Amino acid sequence: MKYFILFGPPGAGKGTQAAPLVKSFGLKHISTGELLRAEIAAGTERGLQAAALIDKGNLVPDSMVEEMLCAKFDEAAGCTGFLLDGFPRTESQAADLDRMLGERGESVTAVLSLTVSDETIHSRLARRAVLEGRADDANDEIISNRIKTYHEKTEPLIKYYKAAGKYHEILSEGAVEEVSGRVFKVVEKYFGK
Ligand code: ADP
Repeated sequence: MKYFILFGPPGAGKGTQAAPLVKSFGLKHISTGELLRAEIAAGTERGLQAAALIDKGNLVPDSMVEEMLCAKFDEAAGCTGFLLDGFPRTESQAADLDRMLGERGESVTAVLSLTVSDETIHSRLARRAVLEGRADDANDEIISNRIKTYHEKTEPLIKYYKAAGKYHEILSEGAVEEVSGRVFKVVEKYFGK
């Protein structure tokens, strides 16, 4: 099984790039943000707790996302591996992921890091707010907090994965297809193409 991490700030294009990757390489997409939004929409206890944090641009507790993730790893039948999107987001989540995969005799294959400027993030999220109506895209204060959270808590992971020799940086500015081309080039290598 291959375990790819799609990494990058909010608005980097992770969800957009996940779609063609899943289709072409037979990976299973796990977006922790999408799983949380599904819980919120279903009105579960977990969803209620998550909404209060997400709508302010804060992270939810590690245990919450990790429980959801483990359940998804158990549904591995028929895929070549997983594409993790939105996880890990902190150094402790990265350590937990290594442990979870280790228990399965597996490890992270590679990190696909999509890079964009803060300016691009703001304009993409403002556009998405109109198109998708996500509460956490709704105002600049929440968006700024998400970007701040990313820089403080998530960005340190770059060093972690660089040290592990698994880190690939991919420019995510320009046309969607252009970015896909760059991402595919990296992923193809891991499939021996
Ligand atoms: P984006 O990449 O645009 O920030 P996501 O859909 O990945 O959006 O996540 C939306 C929100 O869900 C995050 O801002 C955070 O509150 C919560 N979330 C998602 N994944 C995690 C995670 N791994 N740990 C903690 N919170 C998470």
